[in-house]
Amino acid sequence: MNDQGFEKFCGKKIFPAFRKTPLPGGYMGKILRVNLTEGKLKDENLPETPILRQYIGGQGLAQYILMHELPPGTGPLDPGNPVIFMTGPLTGNGKTPASTIFMTTGLSNMTSSPNMTSGAVVSASAAGFFGTFLKFSGYDGIIITGVSKKPVYLWINNGKAELRDAGAIWGKDTHDTITAVQNEVGNPDARVACIGPAGESQIGYSMVVSDPHHSASHGGGSVMGSKKLKAVAVWGNKVVSVKNKEKLVEAGNQWRSKLKKVQYPQDKWTTGHAHHLKTIIYKNFQSTLFPGANKGFEKEEYTPRPCYECNRECPYDARITEGKHTGYVATLGAGSEQLEGVAFTLGVGGQDVHYLVEVMDRIGLDGSTFGCAAGVAFEAYDKGLLTSRQTDGMELKWGDADVVEKLLWKTARREGWLGGIVANGPKATAEAIGGDAKKWVVHVKGGAPALHDWRPYLSQMLGQITATGGGKPRFQGFELNPSPDFGYPEKTSSTSAEGKAKETQTGGDFREFTGAAGICWFGCRGGVFGHSIEALAAVTGWEDFSLEEARTVGERVWQMEHLFHLRYGWTPEEDLTNIGPRFLEPIPDGQFKGFTIARFLPGLVHDFHAACGWDIKSGKPYEETLKKFGLEEYAFMAHRG
Ligand code: SF4
Repeated sequence: MNDQGFEKFCGKKIFPAFRKTPLPGGYMGKILRVNLTEGKLKDENLPETPILRQYIGGQGLAQYILMHELPPGTGPLDPGNPVIFMTGPLTGNGKTPASTIFMTTGLSNMTSSPNMTSGAVVSASAAGFFGTFLKFSGYDGIIITGVSKKPVYLWINNGKAELRDAGAIWGKDTHDTITAVQNEVGNPDARVACIGPAGESQIGYSMVVSDPHHSASHGGGSVMGSKKLKAVAVWGNKVVSVKNKEKLVEAGNQWRSKLKKVQYPQDKWTTGHAHHLKTIIYKNFQSTLFPGANKGFEKEEYTPRPCYECNRECPYDARITEGKHTGYVATLGAGSEQLEGVAFTLGVGGQDVHYLVEVMDRIGLDGSTFGCAAGVAFEAYDKGLLTSRQTDGMELKWGDADVVEKLLWKTARREGWLGGIVANGPKATAEAIGGDAKKWVVHVKGGAPALHDWRPYLSQMLGQITATGGGKPRFQGFELNPSPDFGYPEKTSSTSAEGKAKETQTGGDFREFTGAAGICWFGCRGGVFGHSIEALAAVTGWEDFSLEEARTVGERVWQMEHLFHLRYGWTPEEDLTNIGPRFLEPIPDGQFKGFTIARFLPGLVHDFHAACGWDIKSGKPYEETLKKFGLEEYAFMAHRG
C-alpha cells in the first residue's frame, strides 16, 4: 500500500503537553492512554480547541486520533490497533436528556472483502451510564493499545487509573463480569463496560456491554479480547464544566418537555421497530409475516430502567411470566434489532424472545450479525443442505429456542464446525455451507445490516448497503420519524428513489453529529434536535454554533471514515456487489410484496456517491470535497498504490 503520506503524521503531537487554547466547557480535558504490553498508563491533554470544534468528540475525535496514530499495515487484532472509548461534550452534563453516549472505535475484524486489506473502521455507541461516569472519573476518553500477557481490567477511580488482574473474571458472561468487577473494586456504583465469552474468542461481531442494559453492539469486543482486556470500570464525582448554565438548563427543559416518552407497558407489547415498519423478518427473510412473534408479551412485567437523566425511558427489565423461563428477568436496551436477530428471523416468538436476547447480551454477541449467520444455517438445514452430522447433532428447526441458545454458546466459543463458521459472520457461513446457501444469505460486506426489514424503505436500505460492513451503518435516512429541524429533504414515498440519496446522506450527518456530541439519536428525533444545538453552544461556550455547523461536523466525520476505507482498498463496486443476494430479492409477501431495491441499483448508489462528492468510478473524494471539510492533508489516504 502506498501510504507514504502517513509519515508526516507520525510523531505529530496532537495531544499538547501544554494547551495553548482555553478548554471549552463540556470537556474534562484529559485522555487516558494505556499501553497493555508495557503496563503503562499516562494522561494526555486534549487536542487544541480548533480541532475539538472540528471533530467535537465521540467517533469524530476518535477517528482523528486513529488517522494520526494507526500505523500502515495494522490489522484489527494487531497490538497497534487501539480500542478507543470516547465521550462527547454533552455526555453526562446532567441537564439535558439523551446526553449519555460513549463510542468505541477502532478497526473491526468483521469486514470481509476481496479488495480490502484490513478491517473497516467501526464506531459503536452505547447509552446508559458508563460514558457519564467516565467523565465523572476525570477523562473524556481512553486510548488502549498493546496486548497484556494475562487478562486484566482497567479501573479508573476518580482520576486514579490502574490495571488489575482479571484472571478470576475471564470466562464470565458480561452481566456476571459487571457484578464481579464492582465487587472487586468495592464499589457497587462503579460503571463497567466489558466483554463476554464472544469477545474473548475475538469474534468480529462481539459487543462491549455496559450497565448492563446497554451495548456498543457493532464493534470493539473482539479488539478488547485480542488485548486480553476484560473490562473497563469507572467511577468518580468530578463535575462536567458548563459555560452557560442558564442557557443549558433552558435548552434541557425545552428538550425534555417535548421528548416523546416510551409508553409502558403498551409500547413493549409490540414487536418493536418491526411493528412500526409493518414488516418483520421471519425465517431468514423468507417471509415478512409472523403472527405469533409477540405472543404473551402483554403478560410480562415491565420495569423502566432509564439512562442517566433521560426521561425517554427506553431501557427496561422484562420479567418472563410463562414457559420454561418463568421468573427470569431480562435486562433489555432501547432498540429492538436484537429481537429480530436472535429470535424472529429464526422463527422464535413469544416470551422466549426476551430470554434469548438476555443470553445473547450475556455472551456479548451482536444479534443482527448472529441472526443473519444462523439464519442461513437454519435455512440450509431446512432445505437439506446441512445435516445433523455437521451440527453436532443439533436439529436446526425454526422456532426452537433451545437450539438457538445452544448455537449462541457454540458460536461464542467457536465450538464444532457450525459454531466455528457462524462465528465468522453470515457471508463466511454461507460460503462454508456452499451450494445455494450463498443465494440465501443476507449480508453487507460480510457483516450484517442493522436487523430490521428495511427492504421497502429505500433510504434506510441505501444506508445499509453503503455501510462500512460489519460496523454500524453511518448513513441511515429517517423514514418514520425524521427530525424536521435537521434539514432533511422533503419526504417522498419510501419506495420511490426520488430524493433518497440526499436523505440517506443527511441521515449520515445526523448520526455522526449526535455521536460526536455525545447524544443518543433516539432522544433527538421528532422535532427536538434544535435543542441539542442550543445545549452544545451553552455547554461549550461556542455561542455561534449552528445547525449548519453541526451538519458540517457530521459530514466531516463520515468523509474521514470514507478516507479510511479507501486507504484499506474499498472500491465503489463494494456497494453494488458485496451484498448477500437475499437482501435484494423481491419481498415474498405482505403489504410490500414484490418490491425490491434491485431495480434501482446501481443508479441509486451512483447518485449517492455523487451526492457525497466522490468520483463515481474510483470513489475518491474530489479536491473540493476534501477542501470543504478541511481534509486536504489526508488526501493521500485515497491514493493507494
Ligand atoms: S433516548 Fe432512550 S436510549 Fe437514549 S439516552 Fe434516553 S433513555 Fe437512553
